[in-house]
Amino acid sequence: MWEDNLQDTIAAISTANGEGGIGIVRLSGKDSLKVADKIFVGLDKNKPTSFKSYTMHYGKIVDQHKIIDEVILTVMRRPNSYTRQDVVEINCHGGRLALRKILDLVLEQGCRLASPGEFTRRAFLNGRIDLAQAEAVIDIIRAKTDSALKISLGQLNGSLSREINKIRRRLLDILVILEANIDFPEEEIQAQDLEKTSRSLASADAQLNLLLNNASGGRILREGLHVVICGKPNVGKSSLLNALLKKERSIVTPVAGTTRDTIEELMDIKGIPVRIVDTAGILAPRNLIERKAVKLARNEIKAADLVIILFDASHNLDGQDLKLIKEIKHKKTIAVINKIDLKAEIEKKVILSAFSKVVLLAAKSGKNLNHLEDALYDFVYQGKLPNPEFMLVSNLRHIHALRDAQKLINQTRVILSDQPPLELITQNLKDACVYLDKILGKSFSEDLLDRIFSDFCIGK
Ligand code: GDP
Repeated sequence: MWEDNLQDTIAAISTANGEGGIGIVRLSGKDSLKVADKIFVGLDKNKPTSFKSYTMHYGKIVDQHKIIDEVILTVMRRPNSYTRQDVVEINCHGGRLALRKILDLVLEQGCRLASPGEFTRRAFLNGRIDLAQAEAVIDIIRAKTDSALKISLGQLNGSLSREINKIRRRLLDILVILEANIDFPEEEIQAQDLEKTSRSLASADAQLNLLLNNASGGRILREGLHVVICGKPNVGKSSLLNALLKKERSIVTPVAGTTRDTIEELMDIKGIPVRIVDTAGILAPRNLIERKAVKLARNEIKAADLVIILFDASHNLDGQDLKLIKEIKHKKTIAVINKIDLKAEIEKKVILSAFSKVVLLAAKSGKNLNHLEDALYDFVYQGKLPNPEFMLVSNLRHIHALRDAQKLINQTRVILSDQPPLELITQNLKDACVYLDKILGKSFSEDLLDRIFSDFCIGK
């Protein structure tokens, strides 16, 4: 298990791997300035320990009189820094060698190499940001669309934390009322307090509903909508994927992890990051490789948020189509009848009765492609216009904690009229507070921090 040692002075390369115009080596901790003194020679010969906070200084990094690079050094003194510790940032030339040499030098002078996310972890542990805000930092770095970036920026600015604190304060107010009842005989709640508690719990539930109802859209914006295209060979799966790609801004082509049996693309459809996997359309595998492909396709379908099943309008439905329909019947699906430019032979009624959402299009010419895009958009927002003001929750960890808190609140609402022992109610509400605290990091375990910050890059 990780032991946080805030006394160490940590250092890391904070800019991305590879060559760039500039690169940054970042230091944080009580000895940052002293280490900088040993390696930085400024134009005016002044030492970093004498520099004012938030000032930049031109000079050279030297190793025993040997010049390593020409740099700009920035000093950010505690507590007004990212980590609330003394922070030094050395802006050097962005070549791997210069960065590596400066990092080696500061490590030689007593710094320790930072772990992934350790700067942000310190910002959290030193109370500059809460845990939800710390998690927003990595989401900002990873955001794939404008809307995902907006949610993460809001979270970093504390919009989610403020909402959670409001609910938390409401629960604490109820707890105060209930504690006042402890002096009453048999510890029963007074009628007027019972009513107040009940009303306040209903409001807390409504606040949680507002957050949770917008959370699935938020989660999809953060993680991307995982869509799998399936259909028997030659119905036009690749053509559809290509048509979408041609029209939409492809975010990454192709996504890492692509196998020879499934093709995966990440694209921005009406502001939603969509990860589309085109599965190999094999239904009756003839050999080991095909069997593997079918297995892969099945796993993809299992993991998908949404399946697009494709049919060829110019052919009658056959056994393979029907088998596929059966296989995906438990999944959320959009059925697409492709090749509507050709003479229709397909039994449309069968498809209309099997699926609630059916789109007719021609992938080859792109006709009605926008109908499919609209259907994807509706699937995410379920007919409601996205309301960014309430789209504050996007992280699965937060969703689970909010649901757990809501469950306890609603259990309490149900039993309230039966005059349950006060202790039971207060315990429920205290437990609900603990779930909310977990989101903000008011209560946390080292394991949880390890899990969250191991996702970060080194230097952040
Ligand atoms: P896949 O095996 O399901 O990936 O199917 P492909 O995308 O490779 O398409 C199979 C054939 O159908 C190709 O010859 C395509 O040009 C053709 N095709 C795909 N979409 C359309 C369409 O909308 N109209 C017509 N007429 N042909 C299409």
